[in-house]
Amino acid sequence: MIQLYIPLNFLGVIYREIKQSLADMERLFGLLDQNREVDDAPGAKPLATHGAQVHFSHVDFSYEAKRQILFDVDFTIAAGTTTAVVGHSGSGKSTLSRLLYRFYEVGSGAITIDGQDIRSVTQHSLRDAIGIVPQDTVLFNDTIEYNIGYGKPGATKDDIVAAARAASIHDFIVTLPDGYATVVGERGLKLSGGEKQRVAIARTLLKNPAILIFDEATSALDSKAEQAIQAQLKDIAKNRTTMVIAHRLSTVVEAQQIIVLDHGRIVERGTHHALLAADGLYAQMWARQQAHKDDEAEEVSLPMA
Ligand code: ATP
Repeated sequence: MIQLYIPLNFLGVIYREIKQSLADMERLFGLLDQNREVDDAPGAKPLATHGAQVHFSHVDFSYEAKRQILFDVDFTIAAGTTTAVVGHSGSGKSTLSRLLYRFYEVGSGAITIDGQDIRSVTQHSLRDAIGIVPQDTVLFNDTIEYNIGYGKPGATKDDIVAAARAASIHDFIVTLPDGYATVVGERGLKLSGGEKQRVAIARTLLKNPAILIFDEATSALDSKAEQAIQAQLKDIAKNRTTMVIAHRLSTVVEAQQIIVLDHGRIVERGTHHALLAADGLYAQMWARQQAHKDDEAEEVSLPMA
């Protein structure tokens, strides 16, 4: 009994940590194939996507009863377009993606995809429709081929190579001692942050989801790395409904819509140029980012007010 209890308890700890960081939600659900806090509704149907318009309809949410985190959050991501979510640290950006992935249920309001309330569809079909590029990809201690192929069970080697090429990591892989059979991860070859992110992108391209959540890394990057990420995001977001959780602002400039969250409320929305012209919170954040552009050590988002 004790022997059984300890690993389950341990799994619980890992579950909470991963859930919090968004680090590898897809992997976790692959392993557990369930979400302990959210059940399928009786008679839940598979999600049917036609372009995948995402709508947050007057969403309120609290993790704990006494502290409300989101207040009447209402926005639409038109099918195939990109919406970036920006705001102070702690304003609720990552919470939006946790709710879309249905890690938690909304308190009131609803989230719909092509008109279907995500509470009414099977979790399996919902998570099949969503790909996540986390800010810090955790790799399996397995071959790089496995780590990419995980995105689509039954993928052929040709599929995997095509995805790796599209994510600009194929040329790197073929220089490794065992090529695609090279073991990576904690006990294998360590990859850089950028290489790991490209593995995550290859995995997501293979999965080919209608909806993409791109969780931008919080750390400051030099401008070359920043440009590389922007280019990759552009490629992977093409023709997908995309939500970018933006911890810095440089990736949001081309988004069709920017949502500015402040203490769990949407305070501004629009394109980069419209928001600069509005001269509000976004414009302040942008000005601050420009001022600190060369200061690699400093994170750009404003501290919590
Ligand atoms: P950052 O830019 O720092 O990543 P964020 O805007 O993504 O921040 P969230 O992670 O969405 O912020 O958190 C919003 C608020 O919810 C924060 O005040 C945070 O403390 C709180 N919060 C997040 N996760 C939990 C949790 N599991 N239980 C209780 N409160 C939580």
